[in-house]
Amino acid sequence: MLFLVSNDDGIHSPGLEALARALSSLGQVVVVAPDRERSAVGHALTLHRPLRMTRVREGWFAVDGTPTDCVHLGLHGLLAEPPTMVVAGINQGANLADDLTYSGTVAVALEGTLMGVPSFAVSVVAEAEFRFGAAAEAATRIARVMAERGVPPGTFLNVNVPSRDRFEDLRGVLVTRQGKRVYGSGVVRKKDPRGREYFWIGVRELGETQRTGDTDVEAVEEGFVSVTPVRTDLTDGDSLAELRGWPWTEG
Ligand code: MN
Repeated sequence: MLFLVSNDDGIHSPGLEALARALSSLGQVVVVAPDRERSAVGHALTLHRPLRMTRVREGWFAVDGTPTDCVHLGLHGLLAEPPTMVVAGINQGANLADDLTYSGTVAVALEGTLMGVPSFAVSVVAEAEFRFGAAAEAATRIARVMAERGVPPGTFLNVNVPSRDRFEDLRGVLVTRQGKRVYGSGVVRKKDPRGREYFWIGVRELGETQRTGDTDVEAVEEGFVSVTPVRTDLTDGDSLAELRGWPWTEG
């Protein structure tokens, strides 16, 4: 197997190192990652300036761009043949519920999937003191199962793992749906040293979490690995029929 690995925490992230090391037990690993932290850039693609790729060491490449740029260049500029899988992470921090839309980590798996390569993203759920052992082991298990079973085209897996040293310290794996959380704004409003007002989006207070018993948020709270299948097709299929009946051209 050949793995293309990237992240949004940057090429020097210990989570990236842990993931690459774990996957190398299954096959060849090529890392193409941002040269610095690019968290919360979502699925941004750099179009209006050139990108530079620097070889850091054997099989490791840094790009002065976004996580999506890294996957794009890895697939279309670096690798001679498509990899077996694109894997993202291990992110330092959860990618649960609505986090998915901001996440550069999830965007790596999204980009891989859009390019036709089976993909998944792995994140460790913690605020600080990230333990990557259990997540690294979970990633190799998921890669093995995914390679064996395959996922439908247009679907990738978003994986969140409680922060533990060993896979045995987890309660197991639950297949979940993307949850729903309400956040406070977390916006700090102050004056800079020259008296001009500025805003800074800070820690967003966690509000209410929707509890339906099958969400990613609940699974990790209870000590399970959460595996959420995510579709790249954002169409709301349930609304198609009703919206087709709306009076779009009347009046
Ligand atoms: Mn990150």
